Amino acid sequence: MYFALRVKEHRVKRVDMRYRGYHAPQPIGKGHQMKLSDRVTGLTGGGSDGWDLFYRARAMVAAGEQITELTIGEHDIRTDTTILEAMHASALDGNTGYALVPGLPALRDAVAARIQERTGVPTTRENVLITPGGQAGLFAAHSAVLDPGDTGLYLDPHYATYPGTIRATGATAVALSTRPEADFQPSLADLHQAPPAQSLLVNSPNNPTGVVYARDTQDAIARFATERDLWLISDEVYDTQVWEGDHISMRSLPDMAERTLVVGSLSKSHAMTGSRIGWVVGPATAIAPLITLVTHTTYGVPGYIQDAAIFALAQGAGLETQISAPFQRRRARVLAQIAQQNLLRAIRPSGAMYVMLDVRATGLSGEAFATKLLEDERIAVMPGESFGQAAAGHIRVALTVEDTALEAAIDRLLSFAQRCTQTL
Ligand code: PMP
Repeated sequence: MYFALRVKEHRVKRVDMRYRGYHAPQPIGKGHQMKLSDRVTGLTGGGSDGWDLFYRARAMVAAGEQITELTIGEHDIRTDTTILEAMHASALDGNTGYALVPGLPALRDAVAARIQERTGVPTTRENVLITPGGQAGLFAAHSAVLDPGDTGLYLDPHYATYPGTIRATGATAVALSTRPEADFQPSLADLHQAPPAQSLLVNSPNNPTGVVYARDTQDAIARFATERDLWLISDEVYDTQVWEGDHISMRSLPDMAERTLVVGSLSKSHAMTGSRIGWVVGPATAIAPLITLVTHTTYGVPGYIQDAAIFALAQGAGLETQISAPFQRRRARVLAQIAQQNLLRAIRPSGAMYVMLDVRATGLSGEAFATKLLEDERIAVMPGESFGQAAAGHIRVALTVEDTALEAAIDRLLSFAQRCTQTL
């Protein structure tokens, strides 16, 4: 309709002198491009979104090639049938209409109880917003605390969507580098590189490194956030995948509950990536306006998915351990394989479903290594550069194929690295 109106206005101007002085828009011809917002076109900061190698591998699979895909953080099992049955029963029961926008009270209560039990921090449904996945939670959390022109900080290496999510609020995204020699644990000195800002996004257990922040690191983050009066957004979607030490939520550190928004999800803990169900937990004063944001964006999560989530959470730790066990087992096996050579160094992962390898000794960048590995060996891994500059010269291996295939792929990857080095 807009097109027709504009074309009509232009024609009118040409025949009717009453419109003299009126600057009609240019006629809309072939090739005319409507302007899109800087906000959406600038989400990736002008570069790639980091997923190029993944898309390339997927295209090869679609073309019928045999590729061992160790790229994205997706389980090789599907959602447990008992959870699907709960979902199905709920849908058949009529829960297919609009659901309550902030989340069903029973689900908000279940999330609050779970968080309170794990962290000791008093938590009620007023502290919980249900979102369609952790990613929507990250966007909601940043929307709650950043205005256009503000600055949102995040740590490098980082999960691929972080800078774009911050930019989606109209704020500037600024990365703070961490160092491989420190196993990418940020120090107070790393944090103090930061310009003035309004928020800091952290992630432990970490994607892509698998590192779980030490208590000293967490104290440094809390101190920095307090000194700079920053909101802390803590992405804890891997909180059930901890292989060494314990997961300590940033919200449970002294005096942090009032400035912390925790993002959680059932994607990793319950193999429910496709169900799109997660949450933001924080001060009730921050959750209340987020309910209004959700009313104007997603309008909530389907009731039958929420009922499935209530069922999943009610199964307790047993199901979570069963779902995360393969990653713990594979991690141990891969670390043992890596220990048999000294060309590639593993960043020791204490959690999550990845192993990050330092490939700099081969003389190749992470990107060149991953590209050549895909072409020569038909093994797809993510280049460290997909996760920021701090992980340049590294690759991230997702532990997401069954044990024997993974073991064989790692053997081939290690021989490939040796060959690359010899031909330098
Ligand atoms: N944060 C991190 C660190 C992730 O790795 C992911 C998914 N890979 C997400 C958030 C988003 O997960 P989801 O939206 O599926 O909950």
